[in-house]
Amino acid sequence: LSDRLGGILDKLKRRGALTEADVGEAMREVRRALIEADVALDVVRSFTDRVRQRAVGVEVIKSVTPGQMVVKIVHDELVATLGSDADPIDLNAPAPVPILMVGLQGSGKTTSTAKIAKRLTERGKRKVLMASLDTRRPAAMEQLATLGKQVEVATLPIVAGQSAVQIAKRAIEAAKLGGYDVVMLDTAGRVTLDEGLMAEVAEVKALTKPHEVLLVADSLTGQDAVNTAKAFDGRVGLTGIVLTRADGDGRGGAALSMRAVTGKPIKLLGTGEKMDALEDFDPHRVAGRILGMGDVVALVERAAENIDIEKAKITAERMRKGTFDLDDLRGQLEQMAKMGGLGGLMGLMPGVAKVKNQIASANLDDKVFKRQVAIINSMTPKERRAPKLLDASRKRRIAAGSGTKVEEINRLLKMHRQMADVMKSLGGAAGKRGPLAGLA
Ligand code: GDP
Ligand code: MG
Repeated sequence: LSDRLGGILDKLKRRGALTEADVGEAMREVRRALIEADVALDVVRSFTDRVRQRAVGVEVIKSVTPGQMVVKIVHDELVATLGSDADPIDLNAPAPVPILMVGLQGSGKTTSTAKIAKRLTERGKRKVLMASLDTRRPAAMEQLATLGKQVEVATLPIVAGQSAVQIAKRAIEAAKLGGYDVVMLDTAGRVTLDEGLMAEVAEVKALTKPHEVLLVADSLTGQDAVNTAKAFDGRVGLTGIVLTRADGDGRGGAALSMRAVTGKPIKLLGTGEKMDALEDFDPHRVAGRILGMGDVVALVERAAENIDIEKAKITAERMRKGTFDLDDLRGQLEQMAKMGGLGGLMGLMPGVAKVKNQIASANLDDKVFKRQVAIINSMTPKERRAPKLLDASRKRRIAAGSGTKVEEINRLLKMHRQMADVMKSLGGAAGKRGPLAGLA
C-alpha cells in the first residue's frame, strides 16, 4: 500500500483543503489494501466512507503534505476502529472471578485458556483454577489437565458423567473453597454453530455469571469468524475477543472486521502453539500492519507530531475568537490521553486551574478520554461544529456507533459546554494580555 499510496499522494502536492477527488483516489487504494488484508467487504465500505467523510475538506496544514494528511486520517481511523488501546482482561470483581471461554471447535479455546491462566498466574500473581466443560470430546479434559501441568496451573479434578452445567457448578464451588482468584471455564465447541451449543453456553453463563465472556476465534477463518462472533454475541453476549493464529494472519484484516462488526474489544492475540505465544492486542501496531510497514508508519508519526502542533495553534486561535467546538475538544482529549493527563495547550494556559478542577471532578482517566473521543468520532462534522443539533435520536445513533450510552454523551456535552465557557473567558483575557502569543 505504501508504494501505491505514495505514488498517488505525490500527485496531491497542492495546498488547501483536500477535495473529494483527492480523497476518492487515495481511498480506492486504501480499499484495495483492506481487501487484500482480508477485511470483510461491508467493513471496507463503511471504513472508507467514514475516512472520506472525515478527510474531504480537511485543510492541509503547513509543513504537512496533502499525502501525509490522508495517511494520518486513514491511520487514525484504523486505530479508532480497532479500538483505541490495549484492553486487558478485567478482573475487577469479587474472587473467584469467573472467565468463560467460548467459540467453535478447533478455534484454540483450550490452548488460549491455558495461555491466559499462565499469564494471570505469572504476571498477575493470581491463583487460577481451570476447568474443562467439554463433555463431547473424550480427550478434551485430559488436554486441559496436561496443559495445566505444563503451565503449573491447577485444573478441576475430572469426574466422569457430569454435564457441562454440573461441572461449572463444581468449578465455582471448588474455586471458592480453594481461595482461588480466578476460575477459567473452557467450554466445548462444535464444528459449526448450532442451537445445542448456544443453549449449553447460555445455561453455563446464566449459572456462573462470568465477569468476562471471551470468544476465541481463528483469525484465518475470515468471514466465518465474524459470523461466529455475531452469533455468540447475539445469543450469549461477549465481553471481548481472543484472536488466535494471528501468527498466520500477516495483515491483521480479521481483527479489523471483528471489531467493526461486533464492537467488542479484541483483548489478546494468539501467535503460536506455545504457551507463551500470547500478546496484548495493540491497535497501533495492527493499524500499521494493515496500512503497510516501513516508511508509512514513520511518515504518519512525523505527520502526527506536526499536526498536533498545528492543531494546538488552531485551537488557540479559535479560542481567542471565542469558539471551541467538539472537534477542538477531541483534539484536547486525544492530547490528554497521549500525555496521560492534562497537558498540551491547556497546560500552557493561564488560569487553567479551573479547567483542571473540572477535569479532576469529572474523574477522567485514559479510558474515559478514549470513550469520549469515540463518541465525538461517531458524530458528523456538522454535529461536531454545532452540538446543539444533537437531539435524542442523534444521540442514540451516536451511542450505538461508539458503543457508549446516551448518558455518557450528555456528560460529554455538559463538560464541553462548561469548558467552552471557561475557554471563552480565558480566551478573551488572553486576547487582551496576549499570553498565547507564543502559540498562535
Ligand atoms: P479448541 O478446540 O477451541 O479447544 O482448540 P485447541 O485449543 O485444542 O487448539 C486447536 C489447535 O490449534 C491446537 O493444535 C493448537 O496448538 C492450535 N492453536 C491454538 N492457538 C493457536 C495460535 O495462536 N497459533 C497457532 N499457530 N496455533 C494455535
Ligand atoms: Mg478445547
